[in-house]
Amino acid sequence: MNGFRNLSLKQLKEFKPIITRNLAWFNRQSNKQSFGTKLKRRLRNLLIVSVIGFGSYYGYRNYKNYKWHKELNESNESTGTKPRIVVLGTGWGAVPFLKHIDSQKYEVVCVSPRNYFLMTPLLPSVSVGTVETRTVIEAIRTLIGPRIKYVEAHCVDIDPKLKIITCNTDEKGTVSRGDDIKTIVVQSKRESGASSRIIKDSARTRPQFDMKYDILIVAIGSSTNTFNIPGVEEHAHFLKEILDARRIRSAISDAFESAMTPTQTEEERKRLLHFIVVGGGPTGVEFAAETTRS
Ligand SMILES: Cc1cc2nc3c(=O)[nH]c(=O)nc-3n(C[C@H](O)[C@H](O)[C@H](O)COP(=O)(O)OP(=O)(O)OC[C@H]3O[C@@H](n4cnc5c(N)ncnc54)[C@H](O)[C@@H]3O)c2cc1C
Repeated sequence: MNGFRNLSLKQLKEFKPIITRNLAWFNRQSNKQSFGTKLKRRLRNLLIVSVIGFGSYYGYRNYKNYKWHKELNESNESTGTKPRIVVLGTGWGAVPFLKHIDSQKYEVVCVSPRNYFLMTPLLPSVSVGTVETRTVIEAIRTLIGPRIKYVEAHCVDIDPKLKIITCNTDEKGTVSRGDDIKTIVVQSKRESGASSRIIKDSARTRPQFDMKYDILIVAIGSSTNTFNIPGVEEHAHFLKEILDARRIRSAISDAFESAMTPTQTEEERKRLLHFIVVGGGPTGVEFAAETTRS
């Protein structure tokens, strides 16, 4: 631009016709274009802007994810960052801890295959349909807020010497939250239904990863004890997770509908509507009470 300042008035006058000529040519070109060509050009420009826009957005998002995982794997006491507390589980033990821990003092990471908190006392009601599933669960991220990181994964190994946990290495590389509809679909008679096919597509795999910790809180709950009662493990429903409640609800509904079939014999009808609860603890008693009430 500075070069123009040194031009004399005469030289500038010589430039003027050249510029005017070129501008006229451009104007003629755009006027000559048909509506279709103009539309095509505009659409092409829009496509270019959209591609650049989406590309930048996804690039930024991936970079943020990458940075997050890098920080997660690298930061530990030796780098001078906050000590890291890793909490395993999102149940009754873990959630109150996560809600009260001072995240200014510690870097807190929660690892659990279940990305929601489950209000277990209401499970018997879900299994008979008096309470809906969505009312007994609360998303873990809503409960703990953005200051605590959450990773959906199974912890499968702990190395207390190196202070590292290993996550996500079950046989098939899949993660089950305990509400895995896919499992129902596979075992259900309704497998050929249209919605079942869609649900089945949601099968997912996760790669294995290691995570360092300074303090590890293990709150992974317990597994149901059958007390070796013959047949319970193989034939009975458990009532511990949301999936169990939904399976029971589905089985009860199935039994009632089968009993209603016009050609059903009286004997078979009685058998279908005969429910047995194994276990007389709070869960068994609550379930029995809910079933007779509903
Ligand atoms: C139907 C029912 C009704 C109940 N009613 C009552 C009641 O009225 N009052 C009462 O006091 N108690 C009640 N209980 C018992 C109460 O729910 C349990 O005592 C309580 O859930 C135990 O808490 P927890 O944190 O140890 O385990 P849980 O609440 O079971 O949580 C375990 C968590 O660990 C996660 N986890 C599992 N494996 C891994 C892994 N490998 N890596 C990472 N995370 C993992 C799970 O996904 C889950 O998020 C009831 C239980 C049931 C089943």
